[in-house]
Amino acid sequence: MRSFVYNGLPSRVVFGIGAIKNLPAEVDRLGARRALMISTPGRAQMVREVSGSLNVAAVFDKAVMHTPLELANEARDLAQSIKADCCIVIGGGSTIGFGKAIALTSGLPIIAVPTTYSGSEMTNIWGLSEGGAKKTGRDPKVLPKTVIYDPELTLGLPPSVSATSGMNAIAHCVEALYAHDGNPIVSMMAEEGIRALASALTKIISSPKDLEARSNALYGAWLAGATISTTSIALHHKLCHVLGGFGLPHAETHSIVLPHAVRYNRDAAPEAMARIKRAIDASDAPGGLHDLEQKLGIPMRLADIGMKESDLERAARIAVEAPYPNPRKVEYEPVLALLRDAYRGLRPLA
Ligand code: NAD
Repeated sequence: MRSFVYNGLPSRVVFGIGAIKNLPAEVDRLGARRALMISTPGRAQMVREVSGSLNVAAVFDKAVMHTPLELANEARDLAQSIKADCCIVIGGGSTIGFGKAIALTSGLPIIAVPTTYSGSEMTNIWGLSEGGAKKTGRDPKVLPKTVIYDPELTLGLPPSVSATSGMNAIAHCVEALYAHDGNPIVSMMAEEGIRALASALTKIISSPKDLEARSNALYGAWLAGATISTTSIALHHKLCHVLGGFGLPHAETHSIVLPHAVRYNRDAAPEAMARIKRAIDASDAPGGLHDLEQKLGIPMRLADIGMKESDLERAARIAVEAPYPNPRKVEYEPVLALLRDAYRGLRPLA
């Protein structure tokens, strides 16, 4: 076994059907008395339902995608003006992003109640967007102190959002498997995460109210977030970040690019490929991921989610501008070929 460094991140996880009933006790445990609750407008009703016996100082229900700085500042000002002593975020990665924006400048503790599979609740990664550009960073302050996973809160997550959000989580696991700073513990978690998500998502598509499948998907999302928070990202996430700059939606882009990024790295990362194949029960990792996505009814072509063919070359140029660790050298021509395949939604060659 080669030498490695493992950094475990300190969060407390409360997991289970009905686990949300522990929210008041978890707030008490942090010694907090003035909670600021955060959600999107769509989850406002859920916030009202779970906040029953809590001391809620205010609710910020304007969370949107990509954490625009102006709106994040509004949430920060609200937290300060009500003298909040903790943030409770209820929702997906977008909502959690607002809690992280507040924590980044104030150090307020976050209690996260994730209702999608983004995995953001387990990471120390924050993101803020301004003028169309997204800035990201890592800071221990933004890691939620407590995460409550309650599968019952995810029963209403539409199958299509479940599928793309879940594939986004699978992408975290995949990149952790071949990260230059990976290690056997993270690989074990990543393989288990892929297995849990792949089997759960195929069930959720036909039975969205299947609590067992919902539980397994949240468990997989937890593992996915935990893996990416302690390893570096590589080609797949870099490409998706570049494509995000062209206005493409986050989770769909991650899903579409994944099989192609895996094909790019296939021969340079044999151990990762073996783990992916085992986790999804396929004979070829990139082809197997493609087939899984097709089964889930996910959009398969960048062309379908707003990418212009004329922008592919520019995207490839941006993606190779700054070097970064990746199992296979990141070079313009093969990256452009990858993007062209993803644009057309081709099944990666075996
Ligand atoms: P999202 O938070 O935007 O949610 C997607 C949609 O699902 C929204 O319309 C939301 O209102 C709805 N929704 C959420 N929970 C629901 C439920 N239980 N029932 C019904 N509808 C529900 O999407 P996401 O994929 O969770 O997050 C994407 C964002 O998270 C991106 O901005 C991405 O950059 C960020 N992200 C950050 C990290 C990190 O570590 N910082 C990791 C992954 C993703």
